[in-house]
Amino acid sequence: MAETRKGKVQTVTGLLQPDKLGVTMTHEHLWIHCGGFYMEPATQNKAKSTMPFALSNYGWITQNPYSHQPNLGYGPDERSDIAEEMIYYKSNGGSSIVDNTTIGLHPNKQFLKELSETTGVNIVAGAGYYVAAFQTESTKALTLEAMSDCIRHDILEGVGETGIKCGVIGEIGCAWPLEEFERRSIQASAVVQSELDTPVIIHPGLNPDSPFEILRIFQEAGGKLHNVVMSHLDRTIFDKERLLEFAAEGVYCEYDLFGIETSHYQPIPSIDMFSDAQRIQMIKVLVDNGYEDRICIAQDMHTKHRLTKYGGHGFSHNLINIVPKMLNRGISQEAVNKILIENPKRWLTYQR
Ligand SMILES: [Zn+2]
Repeated sequence: MAETRKGKVQTVTGLLQPDKLGVTMTHEHLWIHCGGFYMEPATQNKAKSTMPFALSNYGWITQNPYSHQPNLGYGPDERSDIAEEMIYYKSNGGSSIVDNTTIGLHPNKQFLKELSETTGVNIVAGAGYYVAAFQTESTKALTLEAMSDCIRHDILEGVGETGIKCGVIGEIGCAWPLEEFERRSIQASAVVQSELDTPVIIHPGLNPDSPFEILRIFQEAGGKLHNVVMSHLDRTIFDKERLLEFAAEGVYCEYDLFGIETSHYQPIPSIDMFSDAQRIQMIKVLVDNGYEDRICIAQDMHTKHRLTKYGGHGFSHNLINIVPKMLNRGISQEAVNKILIENPKRWLTYQR
């Protein structure tokens, strides 16, 4: 008889007792190709889009991360660099990572399994679909039923023929305005979550109304909110009142762009991107209003320039730099432990 998922966490190497999770970053990418983010630079900067990584280029790449083609993802050539990041993450107290690389971002679950086996970091992999703009025509044409079948298969049987099982659904990619494919993706995820109780993690569109709209569609399709994480709030909701209104929905609020310290946000130049200090201020607002059981953090690593090898802050940034700053800004050690350990554990554990 198959081992029951109830009370356990599904990692890429098998079911895990939740107490073994420890410190967990809930939204990262350990292998990813995100060429779909590419934004053509202005004519006079065209040549910069393919220039090699060098210290002298780092300033431009930091301000224009999505206009530098070699920056958009990492994979075969960075295997050992990611492994080193994981070993360093462990040495800083890290223990587990949720890899959110869904269909459209070119996931590699086999690599996740090998990485977990060689470094000892627990890795939970994501099923489901990223935004429509990253999908092939044939994927975008899939029916709701076909999408549900794929998600269910990746959770129960394992991705493709690998036998490697996903432990969450997401990141479920959504744009603003929402594409029809993305609506079906939310609905398919809700269908499978309502059947299996698999944890869910969502990437909202770039508008403060998007997270609310997604939760409405998700619930109308039968989804439950008790194990749902809403990602990227640090580039989606900038107003404290609106944030508290959203937190009242009862899902986990995720601040996952820690480490990005550029005010200019390429996808939407009209907004001022939060700094780490502002992310911490918003987390403090949530904690002060009684939501410390509903906060997760991560760094959403997805470009090369944020990897240690390329001069970036690396996967250990939150543990080295952000946790001390949170404590210094009046967030208690107890709340920090909830954010790093207890909340991811509760989110990731199957209740049935
Ligand atoms: Zn995302």
